[in-house]
Amino acid sequence: MSATTLYDNHGRPINYLRLAVTDRCNLRCFYCMPEEGIKYLPKKDLLTFEEIERLVTLLASMGISKIRLTGGEPFVRTDLMQLIRRISVIEGIKDIHLTTNGILTRPHISELKSLGIASVNLSLDTLNKERFKLITRRDEFENAWETLQLLLKHEIPVKINTVVMEDKNIEDIASMVELTKHHPISIRFIEEMPFNGEGNHYAKLKWTHKEILDHIKLFYPTIQKVKDAENSTAYHYQIPGYAGYIGIIAAFTRSFCGTCNRIRITAQGVLKTCLYDDGVLNIKNLMREGKGNDDLRNELLRAFAHRPKDGFEAEEKRKTLNVMESMSTIGG
Ligand code: SAM
Ligand code: SF4
Repeated sequence: MSATTLYDNHGRPINYLRLAVTDRCNLRCFYCMPEEGIKYLPKKDLLTFEEIERLVTLLASMGISKIRLTGGEPFVRTDLMQLIRRISVIEGIKDIHLTTNGILTRPHISELKSLGIASVNLSLDTLNKERFKLITRRDEFENAWETLQLLLKHEIPVKINTVVMEDKNIEDIASMVELTKHHPISIRFIEEMPFNGEGNHYAKLKWTHKEILDHIKLFYPTIQKVKDAENSTAYHYQIPGYAGYIGIIAAFTRSFCGTCNRIRITAQGVLKTCLYDDGVLNIKNLMREGKGNDDLRNELLRAFAHRPKDGFEAEEKRKTLNVMESMSTIGG
């Protein structure tokens, strides 16, 4: 934890930044983007590396100690490794994490290890090549799988993110759990959220935390609840005797908001203090208008002091009602 602690208006510490370095992606996961892709931001609208470095340095001085680079696909951003090198020497940043689909990741794994990356979240919704193609609309399963093997070989802590989807990958749930038998990985089953870039929403979700857990219990009746790390958004379980863990992330039913320690900066440089808000501060514009660090700090503190108490309140307060957001712009 940084020497300074930042709190929101509900007394929750904020120490974790999720930063989307691009909205572009080389896959087309149907829960995230339409088949034809989303309308990408012009490159000039992305934060530059210099702007990111300035912002992260400022946030680190305010209390942010953990950062996750995400997107879009972070490795689609040219010279991502240069950015990681620059962030890795910022005072106060203790842990750098990365979320990736694993397609372009392999050539960089040994450098990630030497830079001391804290963990990599690999998105993998199925262990079946054909289902992978149906879900991501790209024939890249082997690439993602080999990335997993190489991460394990380098002993980089790995979490696998699996979005649970009716008619798409329910048959994979048990085999994904089985991966935890010999590997010290955490498989995190995520409730599907309404951020698919198409604006079609659903009021109810079939595969909720409870349904996912009940399904796992059919195959693993001895599954046990284990202690969750502080501020974890996943509820953790383990099969007795297995090396790894199972996490379930109630992203749709939103039961974890009470301990949320994270903020997001979207690909276009907009601050979100909740995943479900529609952006509360355009930091990129402030920087480009020439605002100094004191002004930026004050604006950020004002935003942290008006944080919604949970994702439901954030959704109610949205100005844009017709939500067309894609998770690749928000930074999942
Ligand atoms: N491209 C990278 C990847 O897929 O790992 C990073 C960005 S992606 C938006 C981050 C995470 O968000 C992925 O694990 C993905 O499964 C998750 N995600 C995307 N859309 C989602 C949705 N509608 N519901 C739940 N999770 C979603
Ligand atoms: Fe790309 Fe990740 Fe979205 Fe899939 S989930 S389309 S890999 S940004």
